[in-house]
Amino acid sequence: MHAITNSGWVEVVTGCMFSGKTEELLRRVRRAEIAGQSVAAFTPAIDDRYGTATIGSHAGRRIEARVVDPEDPAPDIHADLNGEQVVAVDEANFFSEPLVEVCRDLADEGRRVIVSGTDQTFRGEPFSPIPELMATAEYVEKFQAICSQCGEPATRNQRLIEGDPAHYDDPTIMVGAEESYEARCRSCHVVRRD
Ligand SMILES: [Zn+2]
Repeated sequence: MHAITNSGWVEVVTGCMFSGKTEELLRRVRRAEIAGQSVAAFTPAIDDRYGTATIGSHAGRRIEARVVDPEDPAPDIHADLNGEQVVAVDEANFFSEPLVEVCRDLADEGRRVIVSGTDQTFRGEPFSPIPELMATAEYVEKFQAICSQCGEPATRNQRLIEGDPAHYDDPTIMVGAEESYEARCRSCHVVRRD
């Protein structure tokens, strides 16, 4: 990947869950830091698996991140920035549409913007705002996991509720239900519609 002289850009790291997106984001951030570039990292105020202000991969590497409002991220992000050349945004699928504008503005200001997030819902449909970011980015890299059922490359997020495939109409958050996710290929991905 070459540097664009005197201009920023947006790069999107996407794919299904367990495909290594966050690892790749962290790898890019580390390389920038090794080169002496300053980095600001942001994550939505939803997932606190690794603490409220860290981006952590399943492999255990982590960086400090500012937790921002996913519905209106612009004020938090702009208030936190202090001349950083690189901006990293993890779990970008949990942000709403304004994130696209924020990333555009940051790139217009000359920054390198690295965005990571899954591109499909559990229904196998586009997961906004990732598709919009992919369309307007300079660089897109899409990773695959390994299908938990057949071992082929996996691109989809299988949602399970009490161990069974979720129904198309199931709400995003089901209070009291035990739910989990698996990476699956197109053939093994199941969305109940009965
Ligand atoms: Zn499969």
